[in-house]
Amino acid sequence: MTYVNFEGVCKSFEDGTVAVDDFNLEINEKEFVVLVGPSGCGKSTTLRMLAGLEKLTSGDIKISGNIVNELPPSVRDIGMVFQSYALYPHLNVRQNLSFGLSLQQGKDRLSDSDIEKRVDELAEILGIDDISEKMPKSLSGGQRQRVALGRALAKRPKVILMDEPLSNLDAKLRSQMRIEIRRLHEELGMTTLYVTHDQVEAMTLADRIVVMKKGKIQQVDHPLESYHNPSNTFVASFLGTPPMNMVAGKASKGTFIAIEKGESKTNFKKKLPDEYKSFEGDCFLGFRPENTSLNLNAKKGKFHVVGIESLGSESVIHLECSKIKISAILHRPDTSFNQRFIGTNLKIDIEITDEELRLFDSEGNSVIHK
Ligand code: ATP
Repeated sequence: MTYVNFEGVCKSFEDGTVAVDDFNLEINEKEFVVLVGPSGCGKSTTLRMLAGLEKLTSGDIKISGNIVNELPPSVRDIGMVFQSYALYPHLNVRQNLSFGLSLQQGKDRLSDSDIEKRVDELAEILGIDDISEKMPKSLSGGQRQRVALGRALAKRPKVILMDEPLSNLDAKLRSQMRIEIRRLHEELGMTTLYVTHDQVEAMTLADRIVVMKKGKIQQVDHPLESYHNPSNTFVASFLGTPPMNMVAGKASKGTFIAIEKGESKTNFKKKLPDEYKSFEGDCFLGFRPENTSLNLNAKKGKFHVVGIESLGSESVIHLECSKIKISAILHRPDTSFNQRFIGTNLKIDIEITDEELRLFDSEGNSVIHK
């Protein structure tokens, strides 16, 4: 069942900045949706409009089928977690968790013993029951973020909004908290909208990701679907490290020929798979580095190795062939590769299977968006 709807939502600020442009999205009950995109693409503004912290310029936002455009944040049944933990510094962990509950009035009011019970449950789920008497200043970053999460969850809101909640943590803690947040989501099943510019967070947390650019949605899909079948070159290069290789060229009679400025003959040709054969004209050929195999013994290799990033379990091999720059991932590399190719004139060839090729038109849109 759909729980949150954005219908033609636009937001322009007084200075003329169009932050969000015709944003349409349905979020299902208990779904975990991640908004991802580069800085300034409108993620936080979208979240803030759902929270009631920012007015819409046009369009509608619905929660549970009701338009909430004019409703104040306090009655939207939403919990929020931000990058800065914003804990009450003079209250201990337990008091931070119970504070919001103790302010509830009317039908939402809980008895003191129910508040105690709920705080106990939350502290246990979040693994902070052993630090419940500690003050915020004596907590680690991860512990503070857990308390902030607990505070947002205490009222059992229907929707949880998170805006870059992990960006103040170091890499190891971020990865732990990612697992924790996903586990909590499975356990508590709250409808979640999560904002990040980190594509790893988006890929690992989301049921669906929404990729944004300059206020506009580029693609809404399951993370792996967006990764394997990006709707355009922006999504293709935003998701994945290193990004998808993109070679500019022309398609003609079922063959892709790279255009290399200033070169009279081309060094890179590729027969196109059936689904792209009818396409003619300027285009980009995309393929992921992990799907780019190296043929080290090719008689007529075309690519020079111009750099190697050794990461242990894999190496990223940077290759150039006149103006074409691509990267390939070599799994379980041994050091002899580096000695053999770096700084030498030896050339190697690349191989990509048909299933891994993606074609984009001159505007950057997928020729067939599967
Ligand atoms: P980041 O990842 O850096 O937080 P974001 O994707 O969340 O970026 P927003 O904060 O939503 O982006 O901002 C979208 C655009 O709106 C940006 O160009 C930003 O400069 C602009 N913007 C945000 N708030 C205001 C404001 N109050 N007045 C004018 N422009 C604003």
